[in-house]
Amino acid sequence: MAARRKLIAGNWKMNGLKAEGLQLASDLAGRLQGAGAVPFDMLVCPPFPLLFPVGEAIKGSPLALGGQDCAPKQKGAHTGDTSPAMLKDAGCAYAIVGHSERRQDHAETDAAVAAKAAAAHEEGLVAIVCVGETWAEREAGKAQEVVGRQIAGSLPAGATAANTVVAYEPVWAIGTGKVATPQDVKDMHAFIRKELQARLPDADSVRILYGGSVKPDNAAELLATDNVDGALVGGASLKADDFWAIGTSCR
Ligand code: PEP
Repeated sequence: MAARRKLIAGNWKMNGLKAEGLQLASDLAGRLQGAGAVPFDMLVCPPFPLLFPVGEAIKGSPLALGGQDCAPKQKGAHTGDTSPAMLKDAGCAYAIVGHSERRQDHAETDAAVAAKAAAAHEEGLVAIVCVGETWAEREAGKAQEVVGRQIAGSLPAGATAANTVVAYEPVWAIGTGKVATPQDVKDMHAFIRKELQARLPDADSVRILYGGSVKPDNAAELLATDNVDGALVGGASLKADDFWAIGTSCR
């Protein structure tokens, strides 16, 4: 199996004002710098207004910056949107696309997610493409069917291991404290790997993250699961101690 370096990504969602965001990011950047060689990449995705100040504060450190979403275009008459070019200008290397909260709250379709990922790629950003089933879909035995459809529809042409990360986030596990069992995670990540192998030339090198109530006390087991190449973390990414503890659970 290809060696895949773990990615620990923090999605701050709509949390944090400037002072808190700067403190959190600077704290993490300092810990990363002080730790030297670690077996993971660490990424923070603050709300858009914090990208520039946080980007300035962590410049030159190993802590990476990402947007929580991006527009499918680089500029123009799109009120309220933020383009991949703007993310790059702020120092971002990543953009999350297709988070279930975007799919649900903003009716984003797989095609819209693929267009955003393609625009992110155009600017040299890594797109973190999120997929995941609802509880009703899992109960109906349709989890793999749903995730398979999302993968097929949300990955743009030209997706490779260098420009794309897939995040499996069961919707029912996000922000709920419910976590998928390691066996369910293992099965779904193996399924996603197979779906990627059918589509991408370097599928074995694509990082597949798990997201959904990852905390310091469950991170080690999840991160040691086959085909789990990191975590997309919401709530626990807002506390430096917790987020750092998740990172250092990587072996
Ligand atoms: C997320 O925001 O993608 C997420 C997984 O949130 P939480 O870790 O809080 O469940």
